[in-house]
Amino acid sequence: MSTSPAGPDPAGAADVEREAARRRTTAVISHPDAGKSTLTEALALHAHALRQAGHVHGKGGRAGVVTDWQDMEKSRGISISSAVLQLHHRGHVVNVVDTPGHADFSEDTYRALTAVDAVVMLVDAARGMEAQTRKLFGVCRHRGLPVITVVNKWDRPGREALELLDEVEEVTGMRPTPLTWPVGVAGDFRGLLERGSGDYVRYTRAPGGATLAEEHRFPADRAEAAEPDAWPRALEEHELLREIGADHDEAEFLAGRSTPVLFTAAVANIGVAQVLDALVDVAPAPHRHGTADGGAVEVGDRFTAQVFKTQTGMNPAHRDRLAFARVRSGRFRRGMTVTDARTGRPLVLKHVQTVFGADRQTVDDAWPGDVIGLVNAKHVRVGDTLHDGSAVSFPPLPVFAPERFRVVRPLDLAQGKQFRQGLAELDSEGVVRLLTSTRRGEGEPVLAAVGDLQFDVVRHRMEHEFRSPVVLDELPYSVARVVDAEAEQLLRADRAAEVAAARDGTLFALFSDVWRVRAFARAHPEVRLDELVATD
Ligand code: GDP
Repeated sequence: MSTSPAGPDPAGAADVEREAARRRTTAVISHPDAGKSTLTEALALHAHALRQAGHVHGKGGRAGVVTDWQDMEKSRGISISSAVLQLHHRGHVVNVVDTPGHADFSEDTYRALTAVDAVVMLVDAARGMEAQTRKLFGVCRHRGLPVITVVNKWDRPGREALELLDEVEEVTGMRPTPLTWPVGVAGDFRGLLERGSGDYVRYTRAPGGATLAEEHRFPADRAEAAEPDAWPRALEEHELLREIGADHDEAEFLAGRSTPVLFTAAVANIGVAQVLDALVDVAPAPHRHGTADGGAVEVGDRFTAQVFKTQTGMNPAHRDRLAFARVRSGRFRRGMTVTDARTGRPLVLKHVQTVFGADRQTVDDAWPGDVIGLVNAKHVRVGDTLHDGSAVSFPPLPVFAPERFRVVRPLDLAQGKQFRQGLAELDSEGVVRLLTSTRRGEGEPVLAAVGDLQFDVVRHRMEHEFRSPVVLDELPYSVARVVDAEAEQLLRADRAAEVAAARDGTLFALFSDVWRVRAFARAHPEVRLDELVATD
């Protein structure tokens, strides 16, 4: 029996549960250049790509299944789009949600990660845990997501495998439990020891990586004869790992205390099938999700979904607005009427797509774990819960602490309408936060961001998409706290601070630095100054 307010899906909870059980929803996080696009393409090559999201590029002769979100982002001069690639592997559906690679978009990454159940953390074999990987991992830790680690570029000279494991453990605090182990040192990648079966899988690289690398499987007792130089060492290290207990443990992994590790050369399609296998075998299926009132929604309940991203102009050919929602429970059917829990408004889901960007397809059915793109759902905002049946709300998405502030004005005063509409749209997408300073008033809007690149996105999109080029003037603040009206009164007289209201009424007090915050707190111990989520 379900205890959720939504109640079981009338279409049949058993069907929904079966579909949910064969879904895996994940995202790849990595430092730029570690091979995220290459791995994503390789995953698509190995799996049957059901639907692809994002702008589809043909690159390097890889026909048909190439997705290069970053190219799309580059061509738009920005890096924010989250799209979804849907793959089919061994009777399972694997949804790969794209995340922005740059730490300036941590908040956007965080939102995209609310749509996934596990994360693939990609590490360059030579560079190890780079800065952005560390930051993005921190974001995953906030979400309590299980992490699968993939060490890529093993075909190139790099570090010792055991040394890389140490670094992963030191930085993340998770115990590395390799599922595959490289045969041959970095730069001389012969194949993989599959730790589950003990088999040796030898690869012969296909020229250019255009097709799958040829693979030959040897049972453990024939592996040494096949690979006399490299196998004994791999075997010895595998046994050492076993002795120290570095074997996969599902409960530890789901609790975020251990991370399965795989080795790949994504560019040569080596070790990639094992990554798909790991997603199917160890990554969690969609599961119950907590609601704002402390209850929970089971996957078999009536349809619920949460919006994690909205965006206009993803494709110049379709100048419309898409809201991306992750299905949490129940079956989505095209044409169904749902309610937006925030506004109470009904919404008929007629125009729904799973392929975003250049190539789109209408979706008729979707299940827990899937991401659907609602076309022109104008009033839907990031964080909104959509539900069928009685009211359910998922917890709001956290607001990351902005650290950069700018006053924005239109270059051309005659463009007032486009200026206001553009800013309102960018605010509702969460590209930046649009604030009205109590001191400056409506005429001088203030933009708040986590990282400077967000302002570049604003400049670019205001000029190219909303046809209202803007000028941004820096404000001397670096810290924001959420305050109430009482604090706002007190801060009015303070020349070193400023209070600004978000569109939902939240008041942000902006201070030049934490010393000012502390001085104010000391002078007014009765006033609440709420901190927001830090990015690290
Ligand atoms: P992203 O920025 O993380 O998406 O990285 P890309 O997928 O664009 O890859 C960055 C560069 O590394 C490209 O030149 C790729 O061809 C290369 N690359 C990716 N994976 C591998 C690999 O396994 N081996 C080698 N040698 N190069 C790789």
